[in-house]
Amino acid sequence: MKNYLFGNWKMNMNGAEIDRFFHDLASSFPEKSETVMAIFPPFVYLERTVRLAKSMGVADKLSIGVQNVHEADKGAYTGEISVEMALDCGAEYSLIGHSERRHVFGESEERIAAKVNACCSRGLRTVLCVGETLEERDRGVTWETVERQLKSGLSGDKIQSDSILVAYEPVWAIGTGRSASPEDAQEVCGAIRKWLSGRFAGATVPILYGGSVKPDNSESLFSMTDIDGGLVGGASLDPGSFLYMVR
Ligand code: PEP
Repeated sequence: MKNYLFGNWKMNMNGAEIDRFFHDLASSFPEKSETVMAIFPPFVYLERTVRLAKSMGVADKLSIGVQNVHEADKGAYTGEISVEMALDCGAEYSLIGHSERRHVFGESEERIAAKVNACCSRGLRTVLCVGETLEERDRGVTWETVERQLKSGLSGDKIQSDSILVAYEPVWAIGTGRSASPEDAQEVCGAIRKWLSGRFAGATVPILYGGSVKPDNSESLFSMTDIDGGLVGGASLDPGSFLYMVR
């Protein structure tokens, strides 16, 4: 199983900051790394980041992804972008069902399932994000919540195991500085692994953990059996932290 380190920049970084990030990243980029890396910048900077990754000589190791797409091919959807547009700009991955899309923008399970299906139908590799709220954890329904999100998110007719990655991101741990303990994260990721082996017999779908991953806790989280890497928000904005976690 490969290792993964994906950075979700959310609505951060402007053009000059992105230029500086790539300049600094390239200057300490590992010659050899087994880690699959990707950065998810805001839409408007997709082409800039793709161009920078190429010109800085890191594009064969570091991919670019989109933070969201619309499920339709095209049409009257002001403010949205299609899977085709993301691919055309050089995206190789998408993030679907991120907790901010679910809980801040109110995306339904049905819409998330449609987006995952649209990505898979066009060969855009998709990170399906799942995770419980604090209230759900306290009520003891963590697994029911995650299982429901997996079942629904992967229910489309175009889903293919080699286009899917799953990120377990407890909502209470995202951007709060309060990460799940490695043992708690492993417990849920182990259950996700088991569920995925039933859904995709014979295939191995990568499982990432996300939620306040930083250089000082990444090693203990990533050493867990069923955690294949991280989806990192805040700490991915700094090239030094990003590369530390890659190593
Ligand atoms: C995220 O955006 O997916 C995330 C996990 O953010 P943070 O690392 O800042 O908690």
